[in-house]
Amino acid sequence: MRFQKNILLKNYTTFKIGGPARYFCIVKNKTDLIEAIIFSKKARLPFFILGGGSNLLISDKGFNGLVIKLQTTNYKLQTTKIIAEAGVSLAKLVNTAANAGLSGLEWVSGIPGATLGGAVRGNAGAFDSEMKDIVMMVKALDARNLKIKNFNNKKCQFSYRSSIFKKNPNFIVLSCKLKLKKENKEKIKERTREILDHRKSHHPFNPSAGSIFKNFKHVRARDLIEKAGLKGKQIGEAQISQLHANFIVNCGGAKAKDVLKLINLAKKEVKNKFGIKLEEEIQKIS
Ligand SMILES: Cc1cc2nc3c(=O)[nH]c(=O)nc-3n(C[C@H](O)[C@H](O)[C@H](O)COP(=O)(O)OP(=O)(O)OC[C@H]3O[C@@H](n4cnc5c(N)ncnc54)[C@H](O)[C@@H]3O)c2cc1C
Repeated sequence: MRFQKNILLKNYTTFKIGGPARYFCIVKNKTDLIEAIIFSKKARLPFFILGGGSNLLISDKGFNGLVIKLQTTNYKLQTTKIIAEAGVSLAKLVNTAANAGLSGLEWVSGIPGATLGGAVRGNAGAFDSEMKDIVMMVKALDARNLKIKNFNNKKCQFSYRSSIFKKNPNFIVLSCKLKLKKENKEKIKERTREILDHRKSHHPFNPSAGSIFKNFKHVRARDLIEKAGLKGKQIGEAQISQLHANFIVNCGGAKAKDVLKLINLAKKEVKNKFGIKLEEEIQKIS
């Protein structure tokens, strides 16, 4: 496996933002992954697992360590279950499920780039569904001792946009067994179309990392930011979206530092106006 130097990370994120990785490698299987972790340990450098890069704000200075891009792409169908490696894209999974007449993944339609591993780690969710509803079993590598551990749904400790894999970054999701339901193919396609239409009309077209902040049980972050008068606020080439105030968009050549200024501004204004503390959903990497 090749360990490349100074690879620009903005080419690997949906935000199109991010400086260089000191080292960068692409892993295609578990053996590669173990080799990469050993490399980072020997070099005494931190490592970072990169999935689809759709939930990240990477510093303009980049990452002073090893970025491990997971490109494990095997998956198989087993009656109503899908067993897939962490690097499989959600887009691939939703199509595979729909073609097999399996329901439960429609809500991921239209999330660009994201991988199964990233979605499990963050318990991704939308339209009243979450990964926790369909995950049966997760296989993960413990980077501390390079041993593999199996986690059933309960052991994954899923909660709103969180899991044991998020709380403990030493656990790297390798693969996952998803349990879906048999359903009429036309119904699945119709639901998928509705979700895609909804995303098209509610999500901005410009590069972004999805929702910046977590929602609260009774109030959405986008409403708080909008009521704070920040819709359309722009710093450099970064802008709080006119369409969806919980998205910050890259209008072309935006810098991470400008996005951070907007994040801090939104936090400050929302705290001052409503006494509510916004918390980031995106992962900040520096
Ligand atoms: C337009 C748009 C719409 C979106 N809509 C939604 C939505 O509806 N719901 C939602 O929840 N999210 C949404 N997102 C955010 C994002 O797509 C999800 O959070 C997604 O699950 C992230 O997956 P990823 O592979 O891109 O992870 P990355 O962005 O690459 O990584 C995110 C974090 O996960 C870690 N990670 C990645 N792979 C692994 C692994 N195998 N093991 C352990 N850790 C890992 C990374 O180290 C990082 O800390 C949206 C994003 C965009 C750009």
